[in-house]
Amino acid sequence: MGKNLQKCGSSIKNNVKHTIMIGGLSNNGIEKEFEFWAAHDVDFIMLSVAYDFFLNREKISEALRLKDKYSLNLLIHPRPDGNIFQTPANIEAHSIMLDSLDKIRDIIYQNGLINKLILHLSSCRLPGNNFRTFSEEEAISNSLLFYKHLRQFDDLTFVFENVYPPGIGWEELGYVPEHFSIFNLPKNSEFCLDTGHLKLSTMNMSDIFRLPYKITCLHLHSNNGRSDQHIPLTRQNFHEWREVEEILTYDKYIVLEVKNELDKVKNTIEYIKKNQIAP
Ligand SMILES: [Zn+2]
Repeated sequence: MGKNLQKCGSSIKNNVKHTIMIGGLSNNGIEKEFEFWAAHDVDFIMLSVAYDFFLNREKISEALRLKDKYSLNLLIHPRPDGNIFQTPANIEAHSIMLDSLDKIRDIIYQNGLINKLILHLSSCRLPGNNFRTFSEEEAISNSLLFYKHLRQFDDLTFVFENVYPPGIGWEELGYVPEHFSIFNLPKNSEFCLDTGHLKLSTMNMSDIFRLPYKITCLHLHSNNGRSDQHIPLTRQNFHEWREVEEILTYDKYIVLEVKNELDKVKNTIEYIKKNQIAP
Protein backbone atom coordinates (compact mmCIF):
# COMPACT_ATOMS: atom_id res chain seq x y z
CA MET A 1 0.00 0.00 0.00
CA GLY A 2 2.60 2.49 1.14
CA LYS A 3 0.08 5.31 1.37
CA ASN A 4 1.22 8.24 3.37
CA LEU A 5 -1.18 8.74 6.27
CA GLN A 6 -1.15 12.49 5.89
CA LYS A 7 -2.09 12.29 2.28
CA CYS A 8 -4.52 9.47 2.14
CA GLY A 9 -7.50 11.81 1.80
CA SER A 10 -6.23 13.37 -1.37
CA SER A 11 -3.88 10.90 -2.99
CA ILE A 12 -6.17 7.90 -3.13
CA LYS A 13 -7.21 6.81 -6.57
CA ASN A 14 -10.89 7.69 -6.74
CA ASN A 15 -11.81 8.66 -3.21
CA VAL A 16 -14.85 6.41 -3.17
CA LYS A 17 -15.31 4.25 -0.15
CA HIS A 18 -17.69 1.90 1.47
CA THR A 19 -18.76 0.79 4.90
CA ILE A 20 -19.35 -2.74 6.00
CA MET A 21 -22.84 -2.79 7.43
CA ILE A 22 -24.46 -5.63 9.25
CA GLY A 23 -27.29 -6.78 7.02
CA GLY A 24 -25.45 -5.77 3.88
CA LEU A 25 -23.31 -8.45 2.36
CA SER A 26 -21.96 -9.48 5.72
CA ASN A 27 -24.22 -12.52 5.83
CA ASN A 28 -21.89 -13.97 3.24
CA GLY A 29 -18.86 -13.23 5.35
CA ILE A 30 -16.64 -10.21 5.56
CA GLU A 31 -14.45 -11.37 2.66
CA LYS A 32 -17.38 -11.12 0.24
CA GLU A 33 -17.66 -7.45 1.22
CA PHE A 34 -14.02 -6.81 0.44
CA GLU A 35 -14.27 -8.69 -2.84
CA PHE A 36 -17.37 -6.75 -3.89
CA TRP A 37 -15.95 -3.33 -3.09
CA ALA A 38 -12.48 -4.05 -4.46
CA ALA A 39 -14.18 -4.96 -7.74
CA HIS A 40 -15.94 -1.57 -7.64
CA ASP A 41 -12.73 0.40 -7.58
CA VAL A 42 -12.93 1.78 -4.06
CA ASP A 43 -9.91 2.80 -2.00
CA PHE A 44 -10.96 1.85 1.46
CA ILE A 45 -13.65 0.27 3.53
CA MET A 46 -15.23 1.87 6.54
CA LEU A 47 -15.31 -0.81 9.17
CA SER A 48 -18.05 -0.60 11.80
CA VAL A 49 -16.85 -2.15 15.03
CA ALA A 50 -18.25 -2.42 18.53
CA TYR A 51 -16.96 0.34 20.78
CA ASP A 52 -15.72 -2.33 23.14
CA PHE A 53 -12.62 -3.52 21.33
CA PHE A 54 -12.76 -7.03 22.74
CA LEU A 55 -16.13 -7.71 21.16
CA ASN A 56 -14.62 -7.27 17.72
CA ARG A 57 -11.11 -8.62 17.99
CA GLU A 58 -11.75 -11.30 15.36
CA LYS A 59 -13.55 -8.97 12.96
CA ILE A 60 -10.69 -6.49 13.16
CA SER A 61 -7.95 -9.05 12.60
CA GLU A 62 -9.87 -10.53 9.66
CA ALA A 63 -10.29 -7.03 8.20
CA LEU A 64 -6.56 -6.37 8.59
CA ARG A 65 -5.76 -9.57 6.68
CA LEU A 66 -8.25 -8.69 3.91
CA LYS A 67 -7.08 -5.10 3.69
CA ASP A 68 -3.68 -6.37 2.57
CA LYS A 69 -5.10 -9.06 0.30
CA TYR A 70 -7.32 -6.54 -1.54
CA SER A 71 -5.05 -3.47 -1.17
CA LEU A 72 -7.70 -1.42 0.59
CA ASN A 73 -7.24 0.87 3.53
CA LEU A 74 -9.57 0.90 6.55
CA LEU A 75 -11.45 3.70 8.27
CA ILE A 76 -12.77 2.66 11.68
CA HIS A 77 -16.27 3.53 12.91
CA PRO A 78 -16.76 2.47 16.56
CA ARG A 79 -20.41 1.94 17.55
CA PRO A 80 -22.17 0.77 20.70
CA ASP A 81 -22.84 -2.92 20.41
CA GLY A 82 -26.52 -3.96 20.29
CA ASN A 83 -26.42 -5.98 23.48
CA ILE A 84 -23.97 -4.11 25.63
CA PHE A 85 -24.42 -0.49 26.47
CA GLN A 86 -21.08 1.03 25.45
CA THR A 87 -21.90 4.68 24.98
CA PRO A 88 -20.61 7.96 26.41
CA ALA A 89 -24.07 8.21 28.02
CA ASN A 90 -23.15 5.34 30.32
CA ILE A 91 -20.61 6.40 32.91
CA GLU A 92 -19.89 2.76 33.81
CA ALA A 93 -18.67 2.10 30.28
CA HIS A 94 -16.24 5.02 30.07
CA SER A 95 -13.10 3.19 31.16
CA ILE A 96 -13.78 0.24 28.82
CA MET A 97 -14.39 2.61 25.93
CA LEU A 98 -11.31 4.74 26.57
CA ASP A 99 -9.25 1.59 26.83
CA SER A 100 -10.67 0.40 23.54
CA LEU A 101 -9.82 3.71 21.89
CA ASP A 102 -6.26 3.22 23.08
CA LYS A 103 -6.11 -0.21 21.47
CA ILE A 104 -7.70 1.03 18.26
CA ARG A 105 -5.14 3.83 18.11
CA ASP A 106 -2.31 1.27 18.33
CA ILE A 107 -3.88 -0.76 15.51
CA ILE A 108 -4.27 2.33 13.36
CA TYR A 109 -0.61 3.25 13.71
CA GLN A 110 0.75 -0.29 13.51
CA ASN A 111 -1.13 -0.97 10.28
CA GLY A 112 -1.07 2.41 8.54
CA LEU A 113 -4.85 2.82 8.75
CA ILE A 114 -6.55 6.19 8.31
CA ASN A 115 -6.02 8.08 11.56
CA LYS A 116 -9.58 9.27 11.91
CA LEU A 117 -12.45 7.72 13.85
CA ILE A 118 -16.05 8.26 12.78
CA LEU A 119 -18.27 8.59 15.86
CA HIS A 120 -21.88 9.26 16.63
CA LEU A 121 -22.54 11.33 19.71
CA SER A 122 -23.96 9.36 22.63
CA SER A 123 -26.65 6.74 22.16
CA CYS A 124 -29.48 7.09 24.66
CA ARG A 125 -31.17 3.85 23.69
CA LEU A 126 -30.60 1.06 21.22
CA PRO A 127 -33.43 -0.44 19.16
CA GLY A 128 -34.78 -3.75 20.44
CA ASN A 129 -32.61 -3.42 23.50
CA ASN A 130 -34.01 -3.01 26.98
CA PHE A 131 -30.63 -3.30 28.67
CA ARG A 132 -30.74 0.30 29.77
CA THR A 133 -31.93 3.65 28.52
CA PHE A 134 -30.82 7.14 29.42
CA SER A 135 -32.72 10.37 29.41
CA GLU A 136 -31.28 13.02 27.16
CA GLU A 137 -30.32 15.05 30.21
CA GLU A 138 -28.46 12.15 31.79
CA ALA A 139 -26.81 11.26 28.49
CA ILE A 140 -25.55 14.83 28.14
CA SER A 141 -24.13 15.12 31.63
CA ASN A 142 -22.36 11.72 31.48
CA SER A 143 -21.07 12.41 28.00
CA LEU A 144 -19.57 15.73 29.03
CA LEU A 145 -17.15 13.77 31.20
CA PHE A 146 -16.36 11.29 28.46
CA TYR A 147 -15.61 13.83 25.76
CA LYS A 148 -13.12 15.62 28.01
CA HIS A 149 -11.02 12.46 27.91
CA LEU A 150 -10.89 12.49 24.12
CA ARG A 151 -8.30 15.24 24.31
CA GLN A 152 -5.72 12.65 25.32
CA PHE A 153 -6.02 11.16 21.81
CA ASP A 154 -4.55 14.16 20.07
CA ASP A 155 -2.92 12.03 17.36
CA LEU A 156 -6.36 10.89 16.21
CA THR A 157 -9.04 13.00 14.62
CA PHE A 158 -12.61 12.37 15.71
CA VAL A 159 -15.20 12.90 13.02
CA PHE A 160 -18.72 13.34 14.38
CA GLU A 161 -21.78 12.44 12.39
CA ASN A 162 -25.28 13.95 12.29
CA VAL A 163 -28.14 11.60 13.19
CA TYR A 164 -31.94 11.83 13.18
CA PRO A 165 -34.43 12.64 15.95
CA PRO A 166 -35.55 10.03 18.51
CA GLY A 167 -38.29 7.65 17.43
CA ILE A 168 -36.85 6.73 14.03
CA GLY A 169 -34.28 4.13 15.06
CA TRP A 170 -31.35 4.36 17.43
CA GLU A 171 -31.95 7.16 19.87
CA GLU A 172 -28.83 9.24 19.87
CA LEU A 173 -27.61 12.73 20.44
CA GLY A 174 -26.54 14.67 17.37
CA TYR A 175 -29.96 15.32 15.89
CA VAL A 176 -29.88 19.05 16.70
CA PRO A 177 -26.95 21.46 16.15
CA GLU A 178 -26.82 22.29 19.90
CA HIS A 179 -25.61 18.78 20.73
CA PHE A 180 -22.42 19.41 18.80
CA SER A 181 -21.60 22.59 20.69
CA ILE A 182 -22.37 21.59 24.29
CA PHE A 183 -19.75 18.84 24.49
CA ASN A 184 -16.70 21.00 23.94
CA LEU A 185 -15.33 18.36 21.57
CA PRO A 186 -11.58 18.25 20.82
CA LYS A 187 -10.48 21.28 18.81
CA ASN A 188 -9.42 19.28 15.77
CA SER A 189 -12.77 17.46 15.54
CA GLU A 190 -14.31 17.20 12.10
CA PHE A 191 -17.77 16.56 10.76
CA CYS A 192 -19.28 13.69 8.81
CA LEU A 193 -22.35 14.70 6.83
CA ASP A 194 -24.69 11.75 6.51
CA THR A 195 -27.19 12.46 3.74
CA GLY A 196 -29.63 9.67 4.71
CA HIS A 197 -29.74 10.90 8.30
CA LEU A 198 -30.19 14.46 7.11
CA LYS A 199 -33.25 13.44 5.13
CA LEU A 200 -34.87 12.13 8.33
CA SER A 201 -33.74 15.12 10.32
CA THR A 202 -35.09 18.40 11.62
CA MET A 203 -31.65 19.88 10.96
CA ASN A 204 -30.94 21.16 7.51
CA MET A 205 -27.81 21.66 5.48
CA SER A 206 -27.32 25.27 6.56
CA ASP A 207 -27.41 24.21 10.24
CA ILE A 208 -24.55 21.85 9.48
CA PHE A 209 -22.59 24.42 7.52
CA ARG A 210 -22.88 26.76 10.51
CA LEU A 211 -21.23 24.29 12.92
CA PRO A 212 -17.57 25.08 13.67
CA TYR A 213 -16.29 21.87 12.09
CA LYS A 214 -14.82 21.12 8.72
CA ILE A 215 -16.85 18.56 6.77
CA THR A 216 -14.24 15.97 5.85
CA CYS A 217 -16.39 12.90 5.43
CA LEU A 218 -19.61 12.16 3.55
CA HIS A 219 -21.90 9.21 4.15
CA LEU A 220 -23.91 9.00 0.98
CA HIS A 221 -27.22 7.16 1.02
CA SER A 222 -30.93 7.91 0.83
CA ASN A 223 -34.30 6.66 2.08
CA ASN A 224 -38.07 7.13 1.79
CA GLY A 225 -38.07 9.95 4.36
CA ARG A 226 -39.47 7.67 7.07
CA SER A 227 -36.81 5.13 7.95
CA ASP A 228 -33.03 4.84 7.61
CA GLN A 229 -33.04 2.48 4.63
CA HIS A 230 -29.51 3.13 3.39
CA ILE A 231 -30.34 2.99 -0.30
CA PRO A 232 -27.77 4.20 -2.85
CA LEU A 233 -27.79 7.70 -4.26
CA THR A 234 -28.32 7.54 -8.00
CA ARG A 235 -28.35 10.05 -10.81
CA GLN A 236 -32.11 10.28 -10.22
CA ASN A 237 -32.05 11.16 -6.53
CA PHE A 238 -28.73 13.04 -6.44
CA HIS A 239 -30.55 16.24 -7.34
CA GLU A 240 -32.03 16.25 -3.81
CA TRP A 241 -28.51 16.97 -2.65
CA ARG A 242 -27.41 20.03 -4.59
CA GLU A 243 -25.36 21.34 -1.65
CA VAL A 244 -23.74 17.95 -1.27
CA GLU A 245 -22.76 17.95 -4.93
CA GLU A 246 -21.01 21.23 -4.34
CA ILE A 247 -18.84 19.81 -1.57
CA LEU A 248 -18.15 16.54 -3.35
CA THR A 249 -14.43 17.19 -3.49
CA TYR A 250 -11.37 14.96 -3.84
CA ASP A 251 -10.18 15.69 -0.32
CA LYS A 252 -13.20 14.09 1.38
CA TYR A 253 -13.73 10.58 2.60
CA ILE A 254 -16.76 9.52 0.65
CA VAL A 255 -18.48 6.47 2.05
CA LEU A 256 -21.23 4.78 0.06
CA GLU A 257 -23.09 3.74 3.16
CA VAL A 258 -25.49 1.36 1.47
CA LYS A 259 -26.81 -2.06 2.24
CA ASN A 260 -29.57 -2.49 -0.32
CA GLU A 261 -29.83 -2.38 -4.10
CA LEU A 262 -26.12 -2.94 -4.45
CA ASP A 263 -26.48 -3.25 -8.22
CA LYS A 264 -26.97 0.53 -8.27
CA VAL A 265 -23.64 1.21 -6.61
CA LYS A 266 -21.78 1.31 -9.92
CA ASN A 267 -23.96 4.21 -11.04
CA THR A 268 -23.22 6.13 -7.87
CA ILE A 269 -19.50 5.60 -8.32
CA GLU A 270 -19.59 6.75 -11.94
CA TYR A 271 -21.64 9.77 -10.96
CA ILE A 272 -19.20 10.73 -8.21
CA LYS A 273 -16.15 10.28 -10.44
CA LYS A 274 -17.71 12.53 -13.05
CA ASN A 275 -18.75 15.21 -10.59
CA GLN A 276 -15.95 15.35 -8.08
CA ILE A 277 -14.23 18.67 -8.05
CA ALA A 278 -10.89 19.82 -6.75
CA PRO A 279 -11.09 21.24 -3.21
ZN1 LIG B 1 -23.50 7.32 8.56
